[in-house]
Amino acid sequence: MADLDAFLRQDLAEAEARGLRRRSQVLDPLGGPRFQDGRQKLLSFSSNDYLGLARDPALQEALCAGARAFGTGSGAAHLLGGHRSAHAALERDLAAFTGREAALLFGNGYLANLGAITALLGRDDHIFADRLNHASLVDAALLSRARLQRYRHNDLQHLEALLQRTPARGRRLIVTDGVFSMDGDLAPLTALAELARRYDAWLMVDDAHGLGVLGSTGRGSLEAFSLSPQDVPVLMGTLGKAFGVYGAFVAGSQSLIDFLQQRARSYIYTTALPPALASATQAALLLVQQDHWRRQHLQTHIQRLRQGLKSLAWSLMPSDTPIQPLLVGEAEAALNLSQQLRQQGFYVPAVRPPTVPQGSARLRITLSALHQDQDVDALIAALQDCHHAS
Ligand code: PMP
Repeated sequence: MADLDAFLRQDLAEAEARGLRRRSQVLDPLGGPRFQDGRQKLLSFSSNDYLGLARDPALQEALCAGARAFGTGSGAAHLLGGHRSAHAALERDLAAFTGREAALLFGNGYLANLGAITALLGRDDHIFADRLNHASLVDAALLSRARLQRYRHNDLQHLEALLQRTPARGRRLIVTDGVFSMDGDLAPLTALAELARRYDAWLMVDDAHGLGVLGSTGRGSLEAFSLSPQDVPVLMGTLGKAFGVYGAFVAGSQSLIDFLQQRARSYIYTTALPPALASATQAALLLVQQDHWRRQHLQTHIQRLRQGLKSLAWSLMPSDTPIQPLLVGEAEAALNLSQQLRQQGFYVPAVRPPTVPQGSARLRITLSALHQDQDVDALIAALQDCHHAS
């Protein structure tokens, strides 16, 4: 058998040679969307902190107060003594915010998807999933052992054909991202809800990138499409993106939440979130609801960026959300463009296979409510320079 290190080194070298080696960067916050890597100052267009809440003083205050009241860790799983009033209050608030009977906190979005899907579906059941769904939904489906059928991205005809072809035995779940994380486009939720009704399936939406951002009051993709809880009985939301903290939840009927509490293994067999994070998230929830200006800024920036990048060699993918990917094509070209921008003081990561399909490497530009008009203009100018130089 090959030596372990030799095997690992060879794998890494292959990724490197193909321009696919990924590396995390040390980026420390300077204020707003500005970060520092050693001595280089960078204007970032990479964060999912869309509303700019992650460094908000009100959240920091709530986090510190929470830590003083509850300590740094919960010390146990929810069902074994780790559940605090901060968790309970946040669950009530999230249920009210999403217009549902109840909500259940999970450690993060990955765990929430694993927990909900593996609890709801088993060996004799069927999962219909958009091909571009987040990796955690794919992993959840595989772990559930249900039959997984993936339909072409947002292709309702393909989905309907799969639904028709599938025997009526077993439970059926249609699951989709609300906003696709690497493309920024929306799922056709009204039509998906209609198909779910017609073909006797449950619909689950992962609204990691919609919640807080979409809809006039930030209630996410479902608000954008005016859908009711009956249309989408299982809603997953994350707390580490627009909410600026960490964690995730599933919201739904009281029975769904009671059931998940009994059956979702990634809820049961893991330490409860630090309660101070729940305190900080309650503060975030207030700002998400009050600060309409944050969503308005995002809208202005989206229009400004799309207008400014119209005549570039690379084109922005169709998207009305703060995720504005610039399609480049080959992995190395995307990496090269990202590096050129970095030399000019911008941090815009390249996203390459296997995160996105072969030949569709891109710069994942994300906008924040804390960007200024000048920041967006500076990125447009830098990309135009790269375009002329290439
Ligand atoms: N779903 C989607 C659509 C996501 O983009 C992400 C995070 N990238 C997750 C789930 C996982 O959420 P978390 O980061 O809280 O684990």
